[in-house]
Amino acid sequence: MTKDWRKVRVETVAVHAGHEIDPATGAVAAPIHLSTTFQRDVEGTYSRGFMYSRNDNPNRKALEDGVSALEDGAAAAAFGSGMATAMALFAALAPGDHVIAHVDAYYGTSRLLSDLFLRWKLETDFVDMSDLSAVEKVLRPNTKLLWMETPSNPLLKIVDVAAVAQIARKAGVISVCDNTWAPIIQRPLELGTDFTFHSSTKYFGGHCDVMGGIVIAKRNDDFFERVRTIQYTGGAVPSPFDCWLVLRGMKTLPLRVRAHSENAAKVADYLAQHRNVERVYYPGLKSHPGHEVAKKQMSMFGGMLSFEAKGGREAAMEVAAKTEIFTRATSLGGVESLIEHRASIEGPGTTSPESLLRCSIGLEHPDDLIEDLERALA
Ligand SMILES: *Cc1c(COP(=O)(O)O)cnc(C)c1O
Repeated sequence: MTKDWRKVRVETVAVHAGHEIDPATGAVAAPIHLSTTFQRDVEGTYSRGFMYSRNDNPNRKALEDGVSALEDGAAAAAFGSGMATAMALFAALAPGDHVIAHVDAYYGTSRLLSDLFLRWKLETDFVDMSDLSAVEKVLRPNTKLLWMETPSNPLLKIVDVAAVAQIARKAGVISVCDNTWAPIIQRPLELGTDFTFHSSTKYFGGHCDVMGGIVIAKRNDDFFERVRTIQYTGGAVPSPFDCWLVLRGMKTLPLRVRAHSENAAKVADYLAQHRNVERVYYPGLKSHPGHEVAKKQMSMFGGMLSFEAKGGREAAMEVAAKTEIFTRATSLGGVESLIEHRASIEGPGTTSPESLLRCSIGLEHPDDLIEDLERALA
């Protein structure tokens, strides 16, 4: 298969990048290399490139090469979870550095910054990045990293990635976009960010059966080298089997994300006209405040949506209790549809309204999902 991935389309890259027919056996599906250690040459060198699995492993290398090709990056580093990836990025900064993060960032990311890394003297301002002037206002001389997330969690706020990346670039600040909710359909590196971040636990894995995280670098620069060092020195690395599963998930990622998006658009349209629904948050809806920006930077609007039930927390809990096809569970990006009362999982300090339900729209038939919600909302 050609190694010039720019010559082929994303579906083709997804199937072939990071993958070779096994030269030893001809196996078409990649073998899983469980070995923790690799043979040295007689001269004491490692000509085949692998020494010890915390440092590198054939399955991890395949995953990193594959995802990097898919995102058109220079390099990627895979970790045991999305949060381990975020840890590595923040740990690559220094005490006294300042971070700007989106106010509606993933709850775990916010907690990492406002709790754990505060003790390590990393200062963070959380701003609503859908307001560009708010971003400019909190820039400081010691600002080192800017963390976007779009669509955000769970309110599906839209950040103008190109505009915020430009503000960061002008100020000499590293920009990262958490693209977990919109792989394939949104390409942050092309929009100008320095890094794209994914919790591969979600759409990349795609079947709710593997945890992982990955960061893709536009340039293999000093900062990325620090992240790489933290990866193999810190050791929060994914297992070979986890890497294999995520890379397998990538093969169907473009098709799945398209189907998730088509289903979610139908469910959002249905919910938007329902008398017992107060409000629907889906960037594909014309009524969504971020719709125009979303249209500019996304080719489809993704599989995630939230809605508020009329009647507050109690009504929302009742809807979630009544669904039969939607499973009440956290997380997202799997083939099965999930529904979640977000405020009660996030606990004190949540930005989620009490009447809000977050849905990860799966790959079931959209009419079955709509009929399930119809019963639950009746
Ligand atoms: C799940 C998620 C994370 C965290 O990833 P884990 O794999 O659970 O550690 C980060 N950002 C977003 C947007 C997520 O949905």
